Amino acid sequence: MPTAKKKRSQDSVAVYFASVEQAKAGGIYQGLKDVFRRTKVADSIEKGDVVAIKVHFGELGNTRYLRPAFVRRLVDLVKDAGGRPFVTDTTTLYRHHRHDLFQHLETARANGFTPETLGCPVLIADGIKNNGVDVKVRGNKLIPTVNVAQAIYDADVIINAAHLTFHCDFVWGGTIKGLGMGCTTRKMKLLMHQPSGKPIFHRDRCVNCGLCLQYCAGEAFTRKRGRILFDADKCVGCGECIVFCTGHAITLAWGEAWRELILRTAECGRGVLSTFAPEKAWHFLFALDITGDCDCIGASEGQPALPDMGIFASQSPVATDLAALDIAEKAGLPEERVEAVQTFRKLIAESVLPSVRCRLNPI
Ligand code: SF4
Ligand code: SF4
Repeated sequence: MPTAKKKRSQDSVAVYFASVEQAKAGGIYQGLKDVFRRTKVADSIEKGDVVAIKVHFGELGNTRYLRPAFVRRLVDLVKDAGGRPFVTDTTTLYRHHRHDLFQHLETARANGFTPETLGCPVLIADGIKNNGVDVKVRGNKLIPTVNVAQAIYDADVIINAAHLTFHCDFVWGGTIKGLGMGCTTRKMKLLMHQPSGKPIFHRDRCVNCGLCLQYCAGEAFTRKRGRILFDADKCVGCGECIVFCTGHAITLAWGEAWRELILRTAECGRGVLSTFAPEKAWHFLFALDITGDCDCIGASEGQPALPDMGIFASQSPVATDLAALDIAEKAGLPEERVEAVQTFRKLIAESVLPSVRCRLNPI
């Protein structure tokens, strides 16, 4: 089993920031180029390096996810630096339109992310069978082994290009969430959302299709006198049944353990980072079209929850997310978000991710 490659420890991190107001001639696209240049991402890319550009393709019906045009520009910058980029995301635990490779690619296409528009391959990082690599992470307290999505694990460089949103459970959905939740397999997503790592079976919703008897990795389901029974002790926590259950009879207790979710996601993020040399992991936060719900929601109703800020980038997901949060707090957060955001800050400070001081460098 591979072990963590390097421990990361940082005190003060430069966060480069192209604000929507300050972006010079060429507008915010030029701002992205300037941030890329000032962070010196290109220097970390050796000729031929495979570069994973991790994005969120947006749920079908969502209209405020990260625009493909930004991603295309990142792809071009990586190519100019000599890298071989691919754009990627992982399958989801819930059953919307991104829960397996085929659905996810279909949704990506519908939302404008194709090899033709982006100029590079579009891959679902955990592949057809939700493949990942177990990585032992020394110092993780809640999730000591993190299953990193295969294509992310195989890449030489990661550009974690997150779109900032509020999030019903994670509170401040930025680069930390994109890393821990977005770069790992469904097994991890189950462990992050539900500390027991086991789903809940609702017998009243079961349509007796028998798929769970066929596919459950732990053989936790049996049929007795025509009824499906679930033995949680046998469940090995792979999370697959939530996706394949025809009757939607197997679920999670979404939202019940959100504090734990933040700490666990930070641990998974640390696991993902441990598979890259420290100088080969970058975090870009697009604080534009900031919605009140995450991009996993299949609609974007009403006005954005915060005004556009711009693009942040650094080598620390903590510094990147908190730099945007500092600015949002100064400008004034919606009253109903204040308490949750303060709790988010506290939990990130308590998490295994290195606490850092952020030096904001406006472009
Ligand atoms: S897969 Fe779901 S609906 Fe089908 S038998 Fe199993 S629990 Fe019931
Ligand atoms: S999470 Fe995996 S092992 Fe557990 S019940 Fe579902 S399919 Fe079976």
